Amino acid sequence: MSIEVRNVTKHFGDFGALKNVSLEVRTGELVALLGPSGSGKTTLLRIIAGLEVPDPGEGLILLNGEDVTVRHAGSRQVGFVFQHYALFRHMTVFENVAFGLRVRPARQRPSKTEIRQRVMRLLKLVQLDWLADRYPGQLSGGQRQRVALARALAIEPKLLLLDEPFGALDARIREELRRWLRRLHDELHVTSVFVTHDQEEALEVADRVVIMNEGRIEQTGTPEEVFHHPASEFVIEFLGHVNIFHGRIEGDKAIFGPLEVEYSDSPTDVVLPARGLVRPYHFDLALEAGGKPGFRATILHINAAAPQVKIELLSDTGQSVHVELPHDRYHELGLAVSQTVFVTPREINVFVDNRAAAVPA
Ligand code: ATP
Repeated sequence: MSIEVRNVTKHFGDFGALKNVSLEVRTGELVALLGPSGSGKTTLLRIIAGLEVPDPGEGLILLNGEDVTVRHAGSRQVGFVFQHYALFRHMTVFENVAFGLRVRPARQRPSKTEIRQRVMRLLKLVQLDWLADRYPGQLSGGQRQRVALARALAIEPKLLLLDEPFGALDARIREELRRWLRRLHDELHVTSVFVTHDQEEALEVADRVVIMNEGRIEQTGTPEEVFHHPASEFVIEFLGHVNIFHGRIEGDKAIFGPLEVEYSDSPTDVVLPARGLVRPYHFDLALEAGGKPGFRATILHINAAAPQVKIELLSDTGQSVHVELPHDRYHELGLAVSQTVFVTPREINVFVDNRAAAVPA
């Protein structure tokens, strides 16, 4: 089932939770709504589900091209999974998954045998068929969440909506479950939208990521697109640690204190305030100034117990800088705390009036 959200605005009292949001999800896609707390992710998910409606006259929801904006949730063939598994505690795993089928009106209800087959097939799919007779209280958090997914899938939804499905679990289980969700989706191809505030989770699992901020969509794209071509400062900052340099565009140069790079996108010869954003792994360090754009800094701290060596420095101009180097490079340079080095960026994202341009340095 395809989804189209068209110009949706939603207020709670005076507060604008969604501001003219538009989004398309293709049939069979797995899309992540990613953003900080309060950015409107859950509100958008609930509007797609039919649990909330947009402000009157302020937007449409189309499912498979059909306007369902004011149609209630029950008719949308949606399966839900929430952060807190909300399983029925007095029912076994089997009964929990069968529930959605058993409560159907008699004419639409599958036979007992069919229900049994369907539930066991789903429990196999989520690798829990061996726990069918247990009660939720006898399961781990990850297992409970997989039961919740099987239960949502039992009604054969056309749309699967997941709100922070792994939010309550510890980091290692989250990682395992998100890979598992991706595999499950590849098998079933149910159009799925999931809410998360965890960028790694969104980038690893989704076909496309929708980044939200203060009730608006900042950027929509594949994980690679949003990661390598962030459309705004918000996106680049939200997707990982970044060093920010304040400066200006002057003619064909972007000048950030000691960092000066070519900048050909300047519309006029006036001076414009700008910011240069550099990811820690887009820096290299050198023992001598090598004629490249860069600046001098002193090493304050080194953490080599990570996939990349994390180095904290203080530039001569007083700016704190975070750099990540491959271990090979770190050993080659023989770096130590208090040493003075030269910091050179390989890539700077320049933002002028919130306009982005990636500039190789
Ligand atoms: P989180 O990650 O914390 O769940 P979110 O991005 O999902 O955040 P929403 O739950 O969509 O954000 O909420 C967006 C804003 O709307 C928040 O500021 C929230 O307080 C407000 N809001 C949401 N639901 C209601 C409601 N029923 N009544 C009043 N305000 C609400």
